[in-house]
Amino acid sequence: MSDYLAILDLQTLVDVAEVKRLARHGCLDIHRVSWPLCALAEDGRRMLCCYSAQDAEAVRLVLRQQGYREAAVVPITAGSGGFESMNRPDACVVAEWAGGDADGVRARADQVEAALVEFGNLVQDFARRDGTAAACLVGGGEVDRVADRLDAAGAAASRVWRAKVIDPRPDRLFGAAATTVAPPPNPRAAGAAVRAAAAETVDAVVIGAGMSGLGMLERLLRMGLSVRVYERGADVGGVWYWNRYPGARVDSEVYSYGYAFSDALVRDWAWQELFAAQPDLADYFRHVADRFELRGHVRFDTRVSAAVWDEASGRWQVETDTGERVAARFLIAASGSLTEPQLPDYPGIETFRGDLHHTARWPAADVELAGRRVGVIGTGASGVQVIQTIAAKVAALTVFQRTPTYCVPQRNRPLSDEDRTRVVAEWADILAACRKSDGGFIHVADRRSGLAVTESEREAKFEALWQRPGFAFWFSNFADLMMSEEVNALASDFVRRKIRERVADPAVAARLMPDHPFGSKRVPLENGYYEVFNRGNVRLVDLRETPIEGVTPTGIRTTTESHPLDVIVCATGFDAGTGALTRIHIQGKDGTTLADRWRNGPSTFLGLLVAGFPNLFIVNGPHNAAALCNAGRCIEQNVDWIARCLDELRARGAVRVEPTPAAEAEWTEHVLDVAAGSVLGRMTNSWFYGANVPGKPRRVTIYAAGAKVYRQQCEAVAAAGYPGLMMG
Ligand code: NAP
Repeated sequence: MSDYLAILDLQTLVDVAEVKRLARHGCLDIHRVSWPLCALAEDGRRMLCCYSAQDAEAVRLVLRQQGYREAAVVPITAGSGGFESMNRPDACVVAEWAGGDADGVRARADQVEAALVEFGNLVQDFARRDGTAAACLVGGGEVDRVADRLDAAGAAASRVWRAKVIDPRPDRLFGAAATTVAPPPNPRAAGAAVRAAAAETVDAVVIGAGMSGLGMLERLLRMGLSVRVYERGADVGGVWYWNRYPGARVDSEVYSYGYAFSDALVRDWAWQELFAAQPDLADYFRHVADRFELRGHVRFDTRVSAAVWDEASGRWQVETDTGERVAARFLIAASGSLTEPQLPDYPGIETFRGDLHHTARWPAADVELAGRRVGVIGTGASGVQVIQTIAAKVAALTVFQRTPTYCVPQRNRPLSDEDRTRVVAEWADILAACRKSDGGFIHVADRRSGLAVTESEREAKFEALWQRPGFAFWFSNFADLMMSEEVNALASDFVRRKIRERVADPAVAARLMPDHPFGSKRVPLENGYYEVFNRGNVRLVDLRETPIEGVTPTGIRTTTESHPLDVIVCATGFDAGTGALTRIHIQGKDGTTLADRWRNGPSTFLGLLVAGFPNLFIVNGPHNAAALCNAGRCIEQNVDWIARCLDELRARGAVRVEPTPAAEAEWTEHVLDVAAGSVLGRMTNSWFYGANVPGKPRRVTIYAAGAKVYRQQCEAVAAAGYPGLMMG
């Protein structure tokens, strides 16, 4: 990290509250910029800001996103001890040397210092990294006197002004010294009703045998813990077990998605396509379960119905819908973020006489579609995959679209032996690229702002990304795609132009045109989706023009007509993030359930722990980066962090961990701030905010800073000795 200085001429008046507001802007976290000092002119018209950052570009990105596009960023060396040791008086006089006049200052450093002594000393001086002067802060004195003295010392400043001194950094948990304390006994909870004691005790219960649950199980077994996994499905695989709908396939380059805990697995498993289809993914998870002897630890067809924390024994009492009871020191919820299907509640839906299926509960025995009239409700990632896959097979396809979506081309292809050999040879580099990516994908962002290049350079960049497979257009795009409304609008417009080019009927193209910011909903990858609407057997019904009034025994009725159908496919999404967790009776130490705690929206520490719920860990739950991530890599990061935290407990001889309410509040507030400062904050009408579930509180459920920043935040907590957690 290096230090930088920017002096801003303010067009609109700024006060201390505004500085504090700017300092909470998510872009500082996203670009890893620390802002330790601000000297704000007393008239609110000028501001000297110091930053620590990876490079000047990061600071420029932050300034642009805060609205200061023209500011010059100067690399500096902060004098005498840097920002950490500087004393911060409430006010100071700022002397600026435009152009860094070395003659005037450096050569006369002693005279300058002597000249300023009478004003209560130099608080701090900032030299450009080439050694020439940039600015200094003087502890006291009047502006004119300071200017005169500098003049007399032969170091005339270009500007001298009085300022308030502010440390804009929010009091973040992550910089604090590690403090861990034993949790106080809770007399209320000690007497709380505990269900019948379990006959059996294990170290950990894991809920779910999808990617998260299997990964966690493998890790815990390696650590020597006894583990019981409960899985509602009849086999492993989680989303890849349930989402068997036509066209379901992964949206990460699949070789970068699988488990990384075993090099032998990476070497031996032969992926067939760049973006594997659901049957191949289901096979993969079955193979992992068998190869690492995980199956024996899983109870299939079993749902955890309740988990109650028993303060007396310091264990979770877990119950299942099959009547099993087990006590566990740790409860690890790997129940998934996209688990509970959300069916539309249209009147009459139960009267439909044809086949009606949600994509996430697609029957194992395939549904007959050939030659039938099919209606698909929903055009998110699941809807897009179904629509493009079945359009040519069915007699007639009616697409009921509420919100048009931005899709980018998937550009899937078979993988060759050569590809597979390359993946094995470059495995370490692939993982390193994923760690650098904002989304945990192999796609790494351009460090430049989209506004720092010419229009033709920008267009060429968009086009080049468009031609690449997967999420290149999203995650290899300009660094401020998701932070700058202007850059985002340019990218959104580019995609809209692409859609227009591919749809023959301009009226249909207009209905397919999204108007929200690109990436503010998860972007589906498509293979011929837009061309589907050029087919004679496909009709697009825009529900914003003609909403659905109800479902009849023979089809769907909108405000203007009846659509006769044999099959209705509900690609209508999930009660995402919290749905799987709040449907289980998870009762914490004071008798409150998680559903109650989250009545107004989720509240977590790092998305991994919840205050009042000791020894409960959540993998891939709300407030972590998984929703905008290559799930394989983000889940692995969660699993690693939890395993390390358990190791830490062991090392301390502790058996219990829980975040403090203050730490949880701080993380949750940070999650909300980051979302509000990004383009996501302009599109709250999505599952990221719970908007697709009637009655669900509108609060962001995902960490919008992305996978890389999330990983860094989690690592910072671990490296600092887990501040914010009580271990005892
Ligand atoms: P989704 O993104 O929530 O999309 C649901 C769709 O149904 C939206 O178009 C929504 O419209 C519409 N809808 C919901 N309720 C409706 C109603 N009552 N009437 C009419 N339309 C309604 O769900 P999803 O497509 O299943 O995807 C969820 C997430 O799963 C994705 O974001 C992604 O993370 C993951 N996924 C990934 C893949 C993959 O490629 N690997 C595939 C599928 C899913 P509005 O937008 O207006 O709410």
